[in-house]
This record gives sequence, structure tokens and C-alpha cells, in this order.
Amino acid sequence: MKKKLIEIFHNYSGIENDCILINIKRFYYLSIIAIPIRILNIFFFTHSDITTNTWKQNIIICHLILLIFFINLFFITMKLKKKTEVTNFMRALQYIVPINILFSGIAITTIDQLVTTNISPFLLVSIVFGAVFLIRPLVSAIIYLVSYVVFYYSIALTINHPHVLLSNRVNGITVIALGFLISIMSWYYNYINIIQKRHIDKQQKQLEQMAYFDPLTNIYNRHFFNELVEKELSAMKRYLYNSVIILLDIDGFKNINDSYGHLVGDQILKEVAQMLSNNIRKSDTVFRFGGEEFVILAPKTSLDDGYALAEKLRKIIAEKTFIVDSIKIEITASFGVSLLHPKDKHKFENYYSLVDKALYAAKNKGKNRVEKVLK
Ligand code: GH3
Ligand code: MG
Ligand code: MG
Repeated sequence: MKKKLIEIFHNYSGIENDCILINIKRFYYLSIIAIPIRILNIFFFTHSDITTNTWKQNIIICHLILLIFFINLFFITMKLKKKTEVTNFMRALQYIVPINILFSGIAITTIDQLVTTNISPFLLVSIVFGAVFLIRPLVSAIIYLVSYVVFYYSIALTINHPHVLLSNRVNGITVIALGFLISIMSWYYNYINIIQKRHIDKQQKQLEQMAYFDPLTNIYNRHFFNELVEKELSAMKRYLYNSVIILLDIDGFKNINDSYGHLVGDQILKEVAQMLSNNIRKSDTVFRFGGEEFVILAPKTSLDDGYALAEKLRKIIAEKTFIVDSIKIEITASFGVSLLHPKDKHKFENYYSLVDKALYAAKNKGKNRVEKVLK
């Protein structure tokens, strides 16, 4: 319990940026609410029958200053709220705004003492500060304490009656204590929320990783290929272009496993995946299709260009000497190349059977070669 409390109240750096981004959004929404309220306040005061006096004048000035402040805040945060990176300005803003609001409450309360003994503006801003803004407990405690000291002396400027002054100063303690309590509770629940959200995001990423990536080679898997090929087929249909699929299978891979062991085989598969990824265009995608089979999807590519790409990759693999545990190993691979064509009504399985046929031909014709099929 003690450890958890220490973690929540001291371990701020981990969630600092999240808090700043949340605060900036809250400033924006708060300014949307505060602007019409300020306008209404000014309207009521300027249209009231009360003859203009010091109290009325000062209150109107206060609301006018606040109106300008919130209008500025609205425009500033409208842009800032879309940002995902925290700047030093945002860092400063997250303290400047709440402090300003808190002190404006004290100013209005002080002016109000000319006509009333209640301190509700101070109570209100104290609650808003605690409930709306995410300020770490230590900083929040300091701000509340300083604001109380300011309140303590400030109301003495307008209260003449010592009993009222004492009563309001005592009530002020309750006000900041209540605000601080709300602030801690809000901080605590938001802290838990942020941490849980992170946890969920992390798990989500892991799930996506598991669903779309091959754990051994860390490239996309067959499942993702199926999704991507569907998208590619509809894009091809719409924009009328050709795309190519290349299917490759390492030759005699069983022998490599049998001779050097599965771990060596795994290492070679990883390196082949990396070599393929490094030697294709950014617009092309490589997938591990199964055991020692890989597929490359090359959008907007002709059959001849696809053939040339496969030939280039075949050479790279054949010329490479893999060194695993200081054992030198050379391998070759056979390639099948075929077109994906949007005008065809074939489903993906048909395309796969075409490229499979091409690979089969490459194997039959002696391996370490590329074969293409049109139909
Ligand atoms: P071919 O030239 O006809 O392609 O012969 P091949 O030996 O490559 O083909 P075969 O299909 O007979 O064997 C494929 C081998 O790939 C068998 C299997 O043990 C191995 N393999 C499949 N997946 C993995 C893997 O994840 N790691 C390792 N090390 N080997 C794998
Ligand atoms: Mg195979
Ligand atoms: Mg093979």
C-alpha cells in the first residue's frame, strides 16, 4: 500500500506527458464553457439597475480580463490539443492556466467582500482546480497553500469587520482542503486510468503483432497476406494496373535441418527474410508463407519486372554465404512469378495456384531458377 502510494505520488515522469496532453484538452473545453458565462456575467452587470460603484466596476473589469484570457486560451488550445508531442510552452501552460483561474477566484472574492460576506468564487475555483486539472499532488499542495496565503491577506483589503474576516479566513482553510482532496482523488483515478490504458494499448499491440507477424522472422505472415491481397485486388480493379506475386521456396531445406540442426535452419530463415525485405521496394511487401516459403507482393508491377525482381533475389540468395555458428552454408531458392489481374474474376486461390504452378515448374526444371506463368 505504502509502495503504491509512493509510486502514485512520486513516479510522475512516466505519465507527465499524458497529463499535459489531457490538461490542454481540458483547458480547451473549459474555455468553451467559460467564454459564454463571462459574456453573460458582463451582460448582467452592465444591464443591472444598480448605479455604478467600485464593486460593480471592479467585477466587470475582472470578468473582462477573464473573458480575454479564455478567448486567448481557446485559440491557443484549439491548435495545441491536436498535438501528440509535448512542448515546453505546453508544460508551462498547464500550470499558468490553473494558477490564473485560482487567483482570479481570489480577486473576485476580495472584490465581492465589498457587498457580501460569502466566499463562493474562491470555493468554486478551488473545486474546479481540483476536479478539472491534473496537477501532481506535491505541486497542487504548494499552489493551494500559496493561494491560501494570498486569500488570507487579500480579503483583509476589503473586509472591515474583524469577525467576518476571521470567519472567512477559517472557511478558506476548508475551501483549500476540499479542493486539495478533490485534486488528489482526481489525480489518483487519472493515474490509474493512464496506466491501465497503457497496459491495454501494449496488449493490443502484442495481439496485432501476433495476428500479423511471423514470430520467427518478424516479417508479415500469411494471415496478413490474405488481408492485403484483398485490398490490393480492389485497388487494382479500381485503378486498373497490374501487380505481381512471387512465391519462393528454399531448395533442399530439409537437408540443412538434417545436417546442421533446426536452430541453424531457423537462423537461415531469419536471414533470408531480412535479405528479401532489404532488397525490395518500399511499396512491395514480403511475407513468410509457411515453413521455408516466402511470398512477395509487388503492386503496380508488370510480369517482366516481377520476373526481373525474382531473378535479382534468386542471385542474391545463391551468392550469399551464410555463416551460422562459424559454419559456412550456401543455399539456393526456386521462384514462381505470376500476375494478379483485376480483370480476372478469379479469387485469390486461383492466383495462388498460378504462382504455385510456376514454382512447381521451377523445382521440376532443376531448382535455383525463376519461372513465370501468364495463365
Ligand atoms: P525442396 O527443394 O523440394 O523445396 O525441398 P525441401 O527440403 O526444401 O522441402 P520440404 O518441403 O521437403 O522440406 C521443407 C523443410 O523445411 C522441412 C521442415 O523441417 C523445414 N522447416 C519448415 N519450417 C521450419 C522452421 O520454422 N524452422 C526450420 N529450421 N525448418 C523449418
Ligand atoms: Mg516448401
Ligand atoms: Mg523447399
